[in-house]
Amino acid sequence: MADQSSEYFLALQPVADRERQLLAPYAIRSEDTKGRKYDESVQTYRGPFQRDRDRIIHTAAYRRLSHKTQVFTNDLGDYHRNRLTHTLEVCSIARTIARALKLNEDLVEAMALMHDIGHPPFGHSGEDVLDACLVNDGGFSHNRHALRIVEVLEQRYPDFPGLNLSLETIEGQQFRAAKKDVKLSPSLEAQVVDAADSIAYDSHDADDALELNLLDLSQLRNVAIWNTAVERVSEGRELSDVLLRRAVAHELIDMQVQDLLKNTVAKIEKMQLDSADQAKNLRPIVGHSKQMMNQKNDLESFLLQNVYRHPSVIRVRDSAQTALRGLFARLQYDPHLLPKSFIRRSEEIGLQRTIGDYIAGMTDRFAWQEYARLIES
Ligand code: MG
Repeated sequence: MADQSSEYFLALQPVADRERQLLAPYAIRSEDTKGRKYDESVQTYRGPFQRDRDRIIHTAAYRRLSHKTQVFTNDLGDYHRNRLTHTLEVCSIARTIARALKLNEDLVEAMALMHDIGHPPFGHSGEDVLDACLVNDGGFSHNRHALRIVEVLEQRYPDFPGLNLSLETIEGQQFRAAKKDVKLSPSLEAQVVDAADSIAYDSHDADDALELNLLDLSQLRNVAIWNTAVERVSEGRELSDVLLRRAVAHELIDMQVQDLLKNTVAKIEKMQLDSADQAKNLRPIVGHSKQMMNQKNDLESFLLQNVYRHPSVIRVRDSAQTALRGLFARLQYDPHLLPKSFIRRSEEIGLQRTIGDYIAGMTDRFAWQEYARLIES
């Protein structure tokens, strides 16, 4: 019995058995994985996607998310989300949705934790600067850069470059990087991560903007989804502004998740999905009802006008962009200022892309320190 038991565990049977019991026929199973680019022995106590998740968590790029901007830089305060806490909220929402739909939660978790690791300092402001600086070298997108990190830049294993993640995990990010050009859908698990990203930022950006006094509650009175959430949490009671705002932020997530589950389950039933491959040949399945999509679009337009283009946000964005542009130009002019490993790499891949990789890897804080050291001193 003891031998049988150890064989059972050594063959990764617990993972396969557990997934057979818990997952729907249209979920991706660990035992059906297409494997990794470089062959590796199977580990006996973790499934392939659990292993991917752990590899991502141990990267420098993942740790640096804690000092990278989501929307608001840290000189505005310390209540609001940074890129790491946003990532954890996305992961939490995505896992909830995956479990409810009986999809592969481990794969969803790995993809969610990876989805934003390609962001440079200062969020989309930083991305725009790098894209302009690299215009003659293929441009820059955080989604493509995330792939570059996990396939090339993270050097942690002696036998291969990057993290050698499972192909299913890589494919999820490839879809994010090529969204507009791809006709087929990604796996349902990748669709869940995409939906969870949008649910998280629509809810937390409003909450953060209120806390930072970039908005006041009265401005949101014309936003339908906000009003519905207010009615649902107040139930006729008078709530303080702070409690109302916090309760509404949670309610917004709940409303969106409920709508997404209801709409997605109905589609899955209608299409009689019975395999993971079948789902990839159809139009996207994981999504909101039309009514919820319209309401989310209204909220996003409101946030664009009133938050992302708020003078305080624009002011910080402008100074951050000036700093990054200055850093790029200085390193281009004086490449010997790059760390030695980057100087060596520039001989292989060219100076422009090397500077892009170096700056993209910086946290907000390190970018300011380098700006002070290389430009202001
Ligand atoms: Mg995100």
